[in-house]
Amino acid sequence: MFDLILRQANLPCGRKGQDIAILGTKIAEVAPRIEAEAREEIDATGRLVTPPFIDPHFHMDATLSLGLPRMNRSGTLLEGIALWGELRPTLTVEALVSRALKYCDLAVTQGLLAIRTHVDTSDPRLVTVEAMLEVKRRVAPYLDLQLVAFPQDGYYRTKLGAASLERALDMGVDIVGGIPHFERTMAEGTASVEALCRIAADRGLPVDMHCDETDDPLSRHVETLAAATVRFGLQGRVAGS
Ligand SMILES: [Zn+2]
Repeated sequence: MFDLILRQANLPCGRKGQDIAILGTKIAEVAPRIEAEAREEIDATGRLVTPPFIDPHFHMDATLSLGLPRMNRSGTLLEGIALWGELRPTLTVEALVSRALKYCDLAVTQGLLAIRTHVDTSDPRLVTVEAMLEVKRRVAPYLDLQLVAFPQDGYYRTKLGAASLERALDMGVDIVGGIPHFERTMAEGTASVEALCRIAADRGLPVDMHCDETDDPLSRHVETLAAATVRFGLQGRVAGS
């Protein structure tokens, strides 16, 4: 007796019409026809059955905010970032949590069960961090949510950029983020990569850094990130995104 049998599912590898038998939390058998009983059966005829989808890069604090405070007329990333800067001072924990939970419901219905989201730490109120930690706690039973401390306005570029990022990590954010190509100079971008990797090494955290998100061919912070990964012994814990 199995716990669950999915009948006649299509698999990502292209095999069609497969029965999938599950015992406890494990897949016990996959075959065109499983002659056995189960506590529960689901007819999956013609439907795709896959492992859960993973979104490795998201900005959940900005989700479902189209038109707030106004539309992005140029459609460019830079106007998008400027708009976010206009919206940010008006954000509340309640509104952020409500929009994010709505998005998480949508995500789960599409098979997305793991999301890594950057969380802007530039506003020293850190309402974004407070809200996303609350969302993470609330969705934990069904969605694996990882949070990245992301200094959208730059780590060195603003007076409180560095301090706010460290406070976000103290509050429980999982991963160290950065945006070296957005610092004031190439040298400060390089220094931010070094500083952030040092923080990750000291705290035993992973790194996920926006790198070279620009048309400037001289922007090569991903090389610095790779070198710092080796120097700080962070192999296997670093993503350049
Ligand atoms: Zn991003």
